Amino acid sequence: MVINVYIGSHVSFTKDKQLVGSLKEALSYGANTFMFYTGAPQNTNRCDIDNKLTEEAFKMMKNNNIDSSKIIVHAPYIINLCNEEKFDFSCNFLIEEVKRVEKLGIKYLVLHPGSHVGLGVDKGIDNICKGLKKVFESTNTSVTILLETMAGKGTEIGRNIEEINEILTRVNSKHLGVCLDTCHLHDSGYDLTNFDEFLNQFDVLIGIDKIKCVHINDSKNTIGSHKDRHENIGFGNIGFDTLISIVYNDKLKDVPKILETPYVGDNPPYKYEIEMITNKRFDKNLINKIK
Ligand code: FE
Ligand code: FE
Ligand code: ZN
Repeated sequence: MVINVYIGSHVSFTKDKQLVGSLKEALSYGANTFMFYTGAPQNTNRCDIDNKLTEEAFKMMKNNNIDSSKIIVHAPYIINLCNEEKFDFSCNFLIEEVKRVEKLGIKYLVLHPGSHVGLGVDKGIDNICKGLKKVFESTNTSVTILLETMAGKGTEIGRNIEEINEILTRVNSKHLGVCLDTCHLHDSGYDLTNFDEFLNQFDVLIGIDKIKCVHINDSKNTIGSHKDRHENIGFGNIGFDTLISIVYNDKLKDVPKILETPYVGDNPPYKYEIEMITNKRFDKNLINKIK
């Protein structure tokens, strides 16, 4: 079947198989793109990138019609550019991560802007801008960092598009873009039922061309809850039809869509969710099929 949308999910990345393993996992879900962490998201243990495996993966991509420019890496969430005690650590780790992503031949790295943990939004944004400038100055990279829109849990920055815009404007780099996350947008208070209206608002403030990735997740909570708990597609408060209207929105046609929905028991839901999305038909028995 020809899929007329770039759709994939979060997949694993292991020391032994690296990009080859990630790609195989994505293909097993019927995906045509994917996203991964280069190691555990909550720690800094990272393996060296094996160029042989990367080459093998790129050959496999060619044979399977996978466009490598749509693949996404997610930076670990221990990076917090807001936090002054951890500032040097976060910058240095992000610099190393950008180099790894570049070595893997991947274009986009998603980053959570950070949590100000009591410093206040203004100071938090100051620190984020300082950190990002430092990263771009010391890497001269071709990788684009995508700031993710956040749910506004705790003291998260990026809970509205004004905060994202402030960082983009101040850092002013062509290597900085945006990753939308539907669960986060919903939980932070945006009504996604009229997604075109949201996109217009985004376009006026920032410009739609800055959106390089969309995380497609349903939400366990109601709009504006600031909770950030992802739900399987069609089983949450955003709902199947709204999520479909986002996946197939013409203005985001070339933008990869990535599922970060929860496992059902021990099993990934992605093969079934991708099937529902490509069929544009909700299957309420999905959960039973996965179990
Ligand atoms: Fe994220
Ligand atoms: Fe996300
Ligand atoms: Zn989330």
